[in-house]
Amino acid sequence: MDKRMICSSCGSIGAPVVITKGSFLIEVILWLAVLVPGLIYTIWRTTAKETVCAVCRKPTVVGIETPMGQKLQRDLARPAPTLEKSEPPPKVAPRKADPTKRMGRAIW
Ligand SMILES: [Zn+2]
Repeated sequence: MDKRMICSSCGSIGAPVVITKGSFLIEVILWLAVLVPGLIYTIWRTTAKETVCAVCRKPTVVGIETPMGQKLQRDLARPAPTLEKSEPPPKVAPRKADPTKRMGRAIW
């Protein structure tokens, strides 16, 4: 089974990384300030892990074998839509006054 994941934010394909939410600095400060908040914060940090994209660090990674992962791969593999070569505007043929095709509208 392919363990690789694809990021729906930046399109990176590869192994995601697991990060711990929060900040180590805040943890230290809380421990130095009072024991209880530091303990609570540490407990929260040990449980607050999330899998993120190794490139952009966003938690928007999906398994490459999932339908969404395959759709993303297809979308990203498709070459970017290029602007169609704009054809030069067709030269307008000089309008010839054709007296035989005069519309029957009277203008006063
Ligand atoms: Zn990403």
